[in-house]
Amino acid sequence: MPTYSEEELTEALAECAREPVHIPGAIQPTGCLVSLNADLSRVLQVSSNLQELLGISVDEALSHPPAHCLGEALLTRLDSRLAADAGTIVLDDVQLSAGTGERCRATAYRSGSGVVVEIESLGLLDELEILATVSHWQTRLAAQDSEAELLQALVEGVRALTQYDRVMVYSFDAEWNGQVKAECLSEGIDSLLGHRFPASDIPSQVRALYDINPVRSIPDAQAKALPLRPERCPLSGEPLDLSMGNLRAVSPVHQEYLHNMGVAGSLSVAIHGDKGLWGLVACHAMTPRTLSPASRDAAHLLAQMAIQRLQRLRLMSQQRFRQRVQETRGLLFETRKELLVASDLVQRHGHDWLTLFRASGVGMVYADTVSRVGNLPDADTLKKVAAWLGESQSRAIAWHSDALGETPLGEWIPPQCSCGLLAVPLSVDVDRQGWLMLFRDEQPETSLWAGRPEDVPRMKDGRLVMSPRRSFEVWQQELTGHSAPWQEVEVLAAQDLGEDLAIAASASEIFNLNETLYQERKALAEANRRLERLALTDPLTQIWNRYRTEMALEAELNAAARYGRDVSILLFDIDHFKLVNDCFGHEVGDRVLTLLAQTVWKALRSCDAVGRWGGEEFLVLCPGCTGEDVMGLASRLLKAVSEVDFEEVGQVTISIGAACWKPGESQTDLIRRADKAMYQAKQDGRNRAEKSE
Ligand code: GH3
Ligand code: MG
Ligand code: MG
Repeated sequence: MPTYSEEELTEALAECAREPVHIPGAIQPTGCLVSLNADLSRVLQVSSNLQELLGISVDEALSHPPAHCLGEALLTRLDSRLAADAGTIVLDDVQLSAGTGERCRATAYRSGSGVVVEIESLGLLDELEILATVSHWQTRLAAQDSEAELLQALVEGVRALTQYDRVMVYSFDAEWNGQVKAECLSEGIDSLLGHRFPASDIPSQVRALYDINPVRSIPDAQAKALPLRPERCPLSGEPLDLSMGNLRAVSPVHQEYLHNMGVAGSLSVAIHGDKGLWGLVACHAMTPRTLSPASRDAAHLLAQMAIQRLQRLRLMSQQRFRQRVQETRGLLFETRKELLVASDLVQRHGHDWLTLFRASGVGMVYADTVSRVGNLPDADTLKKVAAWLGESQSRAIAWHSDALGETPLGEWIPPQCSCGLLAVPLSVDVDRQGWLMLFRDEQPETSLWAGRPEDVPRMKDGRLVMSPRRSFEVWQQELTGHSAPWQEVEVLAAQDLGEDLAIAASASEIFNLNETLYQERKALAEANRRLERLALTDPLTQIWNRYRTEMALEAELNAAARYGRDVSILLFDIDHFKLVNDCFGHEVGDRVLTLLAQTVWKALRSCDAVGRWGGEEFLVLCPGCTGEDVMGLASRLLKAVSEVDFEEVGQVTISIGAACWKPGESQTDLIRRADKAMYQAKQDGRNRAEKSE
């Protein structure tokens, strides 16, 4: 039981986040430091070991112009590089006249209004060997096709470069807890694979440092830090900010942490993905270990290559999923002609959807019917869930949870039955709603924590403080009541499926009503009205909806086959539309969709047509158009869209995929080619059109 209050904990965490790790006033003894004023005319501060490394005493350095300790040649190089480059400057192979004659690296960066120069020995560097190692591992990384293998290759590569005893890669979760995803160890070193490290191990200001300086090397954590002389900048009176440097002294809290973990030296390399800090490569040495600046750079390079490959693998797997969803939608379109009733559709396709969405059960509540496939709550419960969704959702949008027990639905659905639900509306119209529901079973997970997360706060001088953990003993936590989480692509795909299903179900209903003429005339009239609305326009943008677009496309393809005519299509998708929703809200997003649709509609020839294909995707149908014509049209559309002022959103761009129909080709294949081309346009940088061959 924790013996502290929530307020005390918040304060302790805030206190910990305030530790000024970037201005320790000292450096690690692996190099020396000289800080200069902005125009490099005066030495302001130096590290106390100047004599040993440069052969010049602290007092001598401080009382002479910079050239006295750094040499004219280095100063001239620095001056010209600083003028040209705003970032950190690295000069290798620096020979310092005053020093030992060793080959050195000078790293220079701006700090406050001055410039800091750090000098490190390049060590016994074998550039060719490092290059060969990097090149070997780069090839290995590029050849990996799964995330696990890729991360394994990364830790092995980094270990080959650093020779550290434990090299692991860990990724952060949404709460900034880390989990070890891969490791490579020397003999006799304990494995930490799969272990979790609590977020408090890397406080927020340290994470922020990783954003500006991704590599942190601590060759000997217990080595005595060397103070700067004087302690503060003589011009500003401020302590020197060493965020960008390599030599920054280790904070006492981190020193204690490493000591408690039995680690003598460490190297951490931050890995940044497209959403910011993704994880770290953390290397531990059990005895102090020097690491040459070049090996440090090489480890960073490998980590960057790995994250690029990782993102590509993720994109490829999303693309494969999208492809399979398209195929499923194609199947549904085929069955639409058979006019199956809603429940038959679920019976026929439900098993495919189970596989596609990694679900354990699929259910549909539509009008008064309930259909079920797989393992899921009973029909009465599904009706209750549908009623609850209808009431609690202000707009008919997808709803999902991977811990139903923590939602009001937990009352009806015990965890033994299902733990995850993704529900998408089958909105035919307001007073006739249905839901497609995908359920997932519980996925119990055992977390191995390296030390108890709640062990970290500790009382000190009558105050609660965050302190480095003393215990790294493995502690097991069982996470129950959860299913695998729903991915964003899965939610979007289920929404598309829901739309198709609503239309298919509605169409069959109308057919059946028409077939059985003795049905009440009122019901028939109501249904026909609904079909008309469905069949004609998209309620938001007032252009053709998907159903109408598909019908028109099919008719056009039939005509083309019969009369040997050309037909082309453009499939386009708004770029970074999620950002528009995230920044300005859904209503502004809706207005953008509407204005965009109208813009395209107006830009078309009278024989062309545009329909909303789903979400923020549109399809332009161009009868009589060859591949060349259609690319001309695509450029016109790009231009027309670029000229529209979308009020607070400003400029909006689209990516277009074009495909020209080939005799004998099915509608599904034609659309698949356009979709592929559109994906290529996205890959190539968006705001452009690509044509399928
Ligand atoms: P990309 O350039 O790769 O296409 O990026 P994106 O952000 O556009 O990609 P993504 O397909 O992930 O996001 C599409 C977004 O469109 C997500 C969804 O919330 C939003 N969206 C779909 N339909 C509607 C709608 O009817 N109204 C609003 N406001 N947003 C919608
Ligand atoms: Mg988009
Ligand atoms: Mg999209």
